[in-house]
Amino acid sequence: MTDLPHHGSSDHAAVLGARHNELRARYETFRAKGLRLDITRGKPSSEQLDLSAAMLSLPGRDDYLSADGWDCRNYFGSVQGLPEARALLSGLVGAPPERMIVAGNSSLALMHDAILWALVHGMPGGRPWRDVRFLCPVPGYDRHFAILEGLGIAMVPVPLTGAGPDMDAVERLVADPSVKGMWCVPKYSNPTAETYSAASVERLAKMKAAPDFRIFWDNAYAVHHLTDARPELANLLDACARHGNPDRAFVFASTSKITFGGGGLGMLATSKANLDWYLGHMTRRTIGPDKLNQLRHVRFFRDPDGIARHMEAQRRLLVPRFAAVYERFDALLGGTGTATWNRPDGGYFVNLDVMDGCATRVVALAKDLGIAMVPAGRTFPYGKDPRDRNLRIAPTCLAVEEVRAAAEGVALCVLLAASERIGKVD
Ligand code: PLP
Repeated sequence: MTDLPHHGSSDHAAVLGARHNELRARYETFRAKGLRLDITRGKPSSEQLDLSAAMLSLPGRDDYLSADGWDCRNYFGSVQGLPEARALLSGLVGAPPERMIVAGNSSLALMHDAILWALVHGMPGGRPWRDVRFLCPVPGYDRHFAILEGLGIAMVPVPLTGAGPDMDAVERLVADPSVKGMWCVPKYSNPTAETYSAASVERLAKMKAAPDFRIFWDNAYAVHHLTDARPELANLLDACARHGNPDRAFVFASTSKITFGGGGLGMLATSKANLDWYLGHMTRRTIGPDKLNQLRHVRFFRDPDGIARHMEAQRRLLVPRFAAVYERFDALLGGTGTATWNRPDGGYFVNLDVMDGCATRVVALAKDLGIAMVPAGRTFPYGKDPRDRNLRIAPTCLAVEEVRAAAEGVALCVLLAASERIGKVD
């Protein structure tokens, strides 16, 4: 991502400063429309959810037996999840079905539990984590940071580069044995949409770290393509095994943004030692997952190709929404020097960087226009963006025309905030 000019230091600034009154007038005109638009969270739109509507009548009154003949209406079997659900979803986590768990409705809950159990019991063969730190690539996913904040784990931000985290910084920091974990959203990252390069994956697998250091590899957007670019993500579990660090990674995925938001299946894959450790604690926490929902997913998709076809249909719904953002941002912000934004190849977000010191003001101005944005800073640990510039736009949930209106409103706020800032400086 390119850096923006410092306020007051460019030709753009002079032009923008002169436009302040005009921008204020356009802002007031927009406000008079009285719109109510929410671009805060990456939720599927109702049209996307409709694509899974047939699931609501699956598996059906008379179809409740698993492939092994178990009655899925009842308690049975292992907490690991139905073998056929694991077979269906193993491609999302890049591990064989026997090395994964398909659980309940939330992958975030699986991540939370792994960290909590490490604090209470220690990772396999290790002592309970005390006074530990996590590396947090930024900008990142606010709920990852919230888990750590809630459990009192210190967070160390590491910048993302467009091909994964700054690996020189990661290697330096992870040499400290108090660093026990690291968050990664390795494909179509939330919110920057970058996919970690093969070289980054290799270095993560190979670097020297504490034996009970773990990478939390949240592959939430594994199959969420928006273009034909389809960047390959190297298999971290395989790379860790190859480099003699077989227990280094927990890989997570979810169908929350494939089928129903919060009504899908969370899953994880990891080494044999980690899996046994996880299952040991999990069997005390729950008798087993909702196997009917697992059966429903199996009946609906049938095989991984079914998932791929479904994601193509989702893509057709999402592309015009993202295009509406680019169109308005290009038209209003292009060439003004006030913002940079990406055109993601996948995932759920447009990542917007505004002029330093302006993000909080943009969110406040947008609120007054009736546009709800995630508070500035949320994409950083402790809610603190040191440059107050990063904003996450979630265009998926609104109708295309609403997305267009929201993007226009945000763009006006970006311009107005920049012109105010320039006014203060000059
Ligand atoms: N991980 C990432 C990176 C996400 O963006 C989200 C949802 O936005 C989740 C996890 C939540 O997944 P789940 O609904 O399975 O808990």
